[in-house]
Amino acid sequence: MTGRSILWMALGATLGLMTLVVVIVLPSVEDPCEGVSVLGSSTALPPIGGFAPGGSAAAAPGGATDNRSDTRTSALPTATPAEPTVSQANPTATGAPSLAAGSGPIRRTLPLAAGTFTVSDVFGARGGTHLGVDLAATDGTTIYSVSDGHVVAAGPASGFGNWIVVDSVDTNGRSYSAVYGHMWDSGVHVRVGDTVAAGQPIAQVGSAGESSGPHLHFEIVPGGRFTGGRQIDPQPWLDGAPTPDVGGALAYSSDPRCNLGFGSAGGALAAGKVPPELEVWYRRAGSICPQITPSLLAAQGRQESGFQRGANSPAGAQGLAQFLPGTASSINPDDGKPYVIDADGNGVASVWDDGDAIVGQGRYMCAIAHKVVSWESEGRVQGDLVALTLAAYNAGEGAVLASGGMPNQFAAHYSETRPYVANILAMEPQYRAPGSLGRFTPQDSSGGANIVAAAHQWLGQPYVWGGGGPQGPSSGGLDGPGLTSAAVFAASSGTVTLPRTAEQQWEAGAEVPMSKAAPGDLVFSSFGPRGPAQVGIYSGSGQMIQSVPGVDTRSRSGVTEVLVPGDARLRRVL
Ligand SMILES: [Zn+2]
Repeated sequence: MTGRSILWMALGATLGLMTLVVVIVLPSVEDPCEGVSVLGSSTALPPIGGFAPGGSAAAAPGGATDNRSDTRTSALPTATPAEPTVSQANPTATGAPSLAAGSGPIRRTLPLAAGTFTVSDVFGARGGTHLGVDLAATDGTTIYSVSDGHVVAAGPASGFGNWIVVDSVDTNGRSYSAVYGHMWDSGVHVRVGDTVAAGQPIAQVGSAGESSGPHLHFEIVPGGRFTGGRQIDPQPWLDGAPTPDVGGALAYSSDPRCNLGFGSAGGALAAGKVPPELEVWYRRAGSICPQITPSLLAAQGRQESGFQRGANSPAGAQGLAQFLPGTASSINPDDGKPYVIDADGNGVASVWDDGDAIVGQGRYMCAIAHKVVSWESEGRVQGDLVALTLAAYNAGEGAVLASGGMPNQFAAHYSETRPYVANILAMEPQYRAPGSLGRFTPQDSSGGANIVAAAHQWLGQPYVWGGGGPQGPSSGGLDGPGLTSAAVFAASSGTVTLPRTAEQQWEAGAEVPMSKAAPGDLVFSSFGPRGPAQVGIYSGSGQMIQSVPGVDTRSRSGVTEVLVPGDARLRRVL
């Protein structure tokens, strides 16, 4: 036996042992990532990773501050105890434990109590675009968490009106998310960062968003909703079927799971968009409060420093997040600690450390957002919360307050602050995991504008030859006609399905001259004897959104914005 095979055997035995231990102690195991437990425990949570004491206060109805050591505090009309009693929890546990888990007890319940709902639409309906099950029930019916887990999204989402996403790890060690949709604003009773238990009331049935009557849209997403997983039919799963392994967040290795943001809202950062060593910090910093996402912080980091850690501006701003020294050491009113803390645990809080700078950026942005929320509620400022928060980061909180909104006091507010805000908001979608904010919903605008908006949600997706179609990306990405097909299908609410190839798509709609180009027109190019080889979506100003294969390692590939080529011809399909 070689040394290497002995090593592998030892590794296998170790992994086997770890598996055994995880299965046995899972309900109370501490996630080594910052000590945040993915399951069960409601002990005091650390300041980073989505559960900051002040971070979630602004999300509480009425802005009430609370002591987050009680993670179950919620907007429910009646107080919810730390462990739901049988009478308060959903009594309808599901499935055969041995079947579902392989070993150990299972904690799954139905999302609605038995007898309170009927299945009104199944998984895979509407031509395969329906990625969950619809459970029709009376408006206001209590929705229960199906499992132990962490709330990683709670609030508005495109298409869903509102949604709740809970990340969990099954007794078989597999990560998955449960998604609950269509609640009214008043029917969401948990917040990002909350720990929930199987059978705990978390929401009430509504009919918000893309919905024709009160129902719960429910999804099960092995691998994680924000971490590369994909939906399965929830009904067999609720009946006790095992959670399949479909990729996404890893099951046993806690480090990758933390790095991906599994169990935190940080999972909404698109993969591979920031320098790899910074990714974990943007994910964690973007989990501090629901208003400030990892993709926003990444776009802001790009604008501030271009991700150059030694950056030093003439005005004295320092590091990745361009902190002025005085700001870095200022006290965060949310928790009484300086904005820049020793997030990476190397013993020093420094704007020159990656983790300290980026977590400090998230802490400062969240603190500003909380102030803007209160200023808006007092009628002292008006405008978009995120835009005003960015403006305050750039020009100072006083500038926003003095201007009653977007800074308008000095020339620099127009020449610097406003372009700063506009640039970051324009870049943010590139850093956002596709579809992480919910399903795309056509808006009340032209068909072409909807096609562009739909295509935007896939910016940054990888180019995969033969990938994509009406349902969106497949095989991990999209090719040119896969992208146009996905965007047109989404923008037409599923009424227009384009054929598979660029050549075939050239038969759709009607040709329009280049002089009449409008956003949403399909752009065909590279014409051969049989027709065009390439297709994209005109986005305005001579640009188009296209999924392009990189021609070499330095060129951009994937869904990106490129110039319309000289031989292009247009067709309008909506
Ligand atoms: Zn549905």
